[in-house]
Amino acid sequence: MIETMHVDTEVLVIGSGGAGMYAAIEAARSGAEVLLADRSLIGRGGATVMAQMTVAVALGSHTPDHWTHHLHDTLEAGRGLCDETLSRLLCEEGPDCIRQMDEWGVGWARKDGRITATMAPGHDRPRCVYVDFLNTGPAVSKTLRAVVNKTSGIRKVGDLLITDLASHDGEVVGATALHLTTGAPVTVVAKATIVATGGLTRLYRRNSASANMGGDGYALALRAGAPLVDMEFVQFFPIGHLAPRLIGMDPIMWDPFRYKLGGRLLNGLGQEFTSRYGSREDGAYVLTRDLATYAIVKEVEAGRGSPHGGAYLSFEHCPESELRAAFGPVIDRLANNAIDLTKMPVEVAPIAHYHMGGVAADAHMETEIPGLLVAGEAVGGANGANRLSGNAVTEALVFGRRAGHSAAARVAGMKSQPFRARAAKAALDLVAADSAPDGPNSADMILRLQAIMADDVGPFRTRERLERAIARIDDLAGELGERPFGDGQRFDMRRIDWFDLRNMLLVARVVAQAALRRTESRGAHQREDFPGMLPEWRVNQVARWREGRIDLVSAPPAQGLAAAQ
Ligand SMILES: Cc1cc2nc3c(=O)[nH]c(=O)nc-3n(C[C@H](O)[C@H](O)[C@H](O)COP(=O)(O)OP(=O)(O)OC[C@H]3O[C@@H](n4cnc5c(N)ncnc54)[C@H](O)[C@@H]3O)c2cc1C
Repeated sequence: MIETMHVDTEVLVIGSGGAGMYAAIEAARSGAEVLLADRSLIGRGGATVMAQMTVAVALGSHTPDHWTHHLHDTLEAGRGLCDETLSRLLCEEGPDCIRQMDEWGVGWARKDGRITATMAPGHDRPRCVYVDFLNTGPAVSKTLRAVVNKTSGIRKVGDLLITDLASHDGEVVGATALHLTTGAPVTVVAKATIVATGGLTRLYRRNSASANMGGDGYALALRAGAPLVDMEFVQFFPIGHLAPRLIGMDPIMWDPFRYKLGGRLLNGLGQEFTSRYGSREDGAYVLTRDLATYAIVKEVEAGRGSPHGGAYLSFEHCPESELRAAFGPVIDRLANNAIDLTKMPVEVAPIAHYHMGGVAADAHMETEIPGLLVAGEAVGGANGANRLSGNAVTEALVFGRRAGHSAAARVAGMKSQPFRARAAKAALDLVAADSAPDGPNSADMILRLQAIMADDVGPFRTRERLERAIARIDDLAGELGERPFGDGQRFDMRRIDWFDLRNMLLVARVVAQAALRRTESRGAHQREDFPGMLPEWRVNQVARWREGRIDLVSAPPAQGLAAAQ
């Protein structure tokens, strides 16, 4: 039996992507003692380090801009469902975070000495800053890691899988965890806990995510009593790489190509097709993600797809010199994959990429549960039914900074939190469970769940498919059972899979249930049996976990652009 470890801190930050690291920095600078925990390596485990190019922010360095224009575009894209207070914070505070990152040496690309911005679909002017064609996320992560390392008051712990939040008297007082490298159960006592665990796209067969993005934070918050909003809105990135096989490159790498060179989206017959779906592309990249996803899927369904079931993306009209001038070394990496863009198109298809829904939070990033805050992609509502390109990294930075500040304010002057064994007992029993090492094939169960989500809870949904998905998710939950399998030793993948599946199945059920209840089509949620957008559905869906079931209710979106206090 491995000994339980105890850790005491003032602020626990769960997840060290852009949101978690910014939160940790801000909380520590405001005087709090911080524990920054991640199930992976610090600053390398989630989406931030994978993000490629764009960070949307109204700097107006070259083209006049103002955060109110950015807000206008964000609300338009959100199709009436944005929490306007959160959207406003994202747009209004984005420039300040980008300048702070600049001071920290991130290296935003510049023209004439000023930070330059590029155009992206859905934005009314060039508004997306970047570091390099494929290097923005790594640079953001590296910069934040360096600041975390220099900031006193932050302890870091990697390989720590947070399995449950601990609650006492209606407050979150810390968490329970599994230390992956030793198999040791861990309890963390904290006066404030920030969930910054990113999104859920690992639920889908084709996704742009790392294996750490199975929706842990949503499940942790839900089980602790916090409501989730807008869970039906999963964003599919329309032009994820499909074929030929690409090794050592990112599946969403075609986005920067389209920003710079336009490119032509063609169906299997070599025809441009987006005009059939109400868009004018004409070689320029103006189509928003939900419409592009719709157009590609519909062409495939109509029998006009590319050989592997997507669309062609062609840069054959671009001379090599233009491609090289725009993407130099990337062209060589493509050549290593036997791809010559001057001679051939590539095949692309939608891929699960981002989640608009998440934990409900106020302007301070506080949830309904005292002691529980949230930041980054884990927050629901800022982007409504559809996110604009570049808004996700901005959201991570802005909400992370806010959450860190609020957490530090909460803990200042609070008495120390004595460890309450009862608060963590049930969760600790699971981590330390002495179980039979065998059990169902957990890796196969994850594949089956991903197939269910892709086939029946994908970009296009029907009642029949959603009901089938819910029944299958329930079957998988029955198969998973209440007790973890595996032997609980160091790096026990079966036990890790069990905890992952517990969260993934819960979150998958919320997504499917919310999608079934929303009988209209809006943004990223498209119901083939309810094709239109309906005024009565201009409501958010709020999900709660009550006595072992998910309850959904409708609530009007938080309106009014009142300044956050
Ligand atoms: C390939 C790719 C490209 C993208 N490109 C762009 C782009 O160009 N522009 C843009 O705006 N957005 C982009 N996005 C989206 C954007 O990167 C994310 O929304 C954003 O970075 C999320 O930041 P975050 O800090 O909230 O979460 P993440 O960066 O995902 O970090 C979450 C962290 O939480 C940890 N974690 C999760 N569960 C647990 C647990 N139970 N216990 C402990 N730790 C846990 C993970 O290991 C991870 O390190 C992209 C996403 C992907 C996947």
